[in-house]
Amino acid sequence: MGRVKSDEQTFVNPPLERGSSVLFPSIAARDAVRQRPYDQVLTYGLKGSSTHFHLEDSIAEIEGGSRCQLVSTGLAAVTTVLFTFIKGGQHCLMPDSVYGPTRTFLATIGKDCGMAVTYYPPAIDEAGLRALVQDNTVVIYAESPGSHTMEVQDIAMLSRVARDVGAKVLMDNTWGFSHFKPFEHGVDCSIQAGTKYVGGHSDLMLGAITTNSDENWQRLRNTAVTLGQYASPDDCWLALRGLRTLRIRMAEHMRAGIEVAEWLRDRPEVTLVLHPALPGAPGHDLWKRDFTGACSLFSVVLDASYDYADMVAFIDALQLFGIGASWGGFESLVLPTTGSITRLPVSSIDAAPTFRLHIGLEDTTDLIADLAAGLDVLNQHRASRT
Ligand SMILES: *Cc1c(COP(=O)(O)O)cnc(C)c1O
Repeated sequence: MGRVKSDEQTFVNPPLERGSSVLFPSIAARDAVRQRPYDQVLTYGLKGSSTHFHLEDSIAEIEGGSRCQLVSTGLAAVTTVLFTFIKGGQHCLMPDSVYGPTRTFLATIGKDCGMAVTYYPPAIDEAGLRALVQDNTVVIYAESPGSHTMEVQDIAMLSRVARDVGAKVLMDNTWGFSHFKPFEHGVDCSIQAGTKYVGGHSDLMLGAITTNSDENWQRLRNTAVTLGQYASPDDCWLALRGLRTLRIRMAEHMRAGIEVAEWLRDRPEVTLVLHPALPGAPGHDLWKRDFTGACSLFSVVLDASYDYADMVAFIDALQLFGIGASWGGFESLVLPTTGSITRLPVSSIDAAPTFRLHIGLEDTTDLIADLAAGLDVLNQHRASRT
């Protein structure tokens, strides 16, 4: 995977290949290559170098798709996919739990371009979803579990509806990277924010889109190149390096995430832990049916007797959890959910302050001690109010 195959001695890892202009030995050689625009050959910097090709092949293999297109960021992956499959006057169905900036794109540039959208509750049933389909619906979008609220979606059901009405299924599979196989559930294009677990070290920005068919890939490739989408080869090289440890990182993220989530679930301060891998948690049955593992991003609903300021005191008191957004790295993170996302009301998380955790690769004993000290501060803050 992403390896140099050579008859001669060579380094384990592919080289970092940077460049803009590609020089050809003759016009005939240049014309021959230009007739094969979708091959992984050097034609111009924008079209990729061997560093890109190695990473594209690796991500396509992990996702289980045909081919992959790299772009600058996870958000660029989202917008490039939407630009490819929705034209002005066409309509898409979006889960209400979608990543916030995806919603912002549709409310601004997407709207200006004439893309129509209906938001649906992520846990909608088949009849409900069918009722929302319009004559001009061309995309059913999915993100599972949803950003912050963590609803697991029935992707096979979405795909069944989409096939019946001739729509594409586009999925943001960032949470499920390497343990949800989108194309086995009927997805057409899978989006990865490579910034997260692919890189794994919080030191790069990257987006990747993998497709189920050559036809979808060529449409997507056209859009990406026409928009001038590109990923830095330095970042791709780091991402390839990140992938070498993906399996053991994900196994530890999963183990540590569940340990911390279970500890929090049993605390009196906590009403609900939104971690699909926890038995009894919302979405657990679908997770068990469809996923082979979990990452370490989940949300925690506090008891309704706490208010937002109590939660802020708790978050500020944490020593080992950075206050930050972009998860998937080796460090643990915390972010308030309450007040930072837009969506339809969800009874479980609107009733009480809610925060999101990313569990990194630190010692879980230390992380739990930090959370315990933070919860003491939470209780003190509530007591000082009353
Ligand atoms: C972070 C994230 C993105 C965007 O990735 P960036 O590389 O930060 O642009 C997209 N979707 C989901 C679900 C994310 O968590």
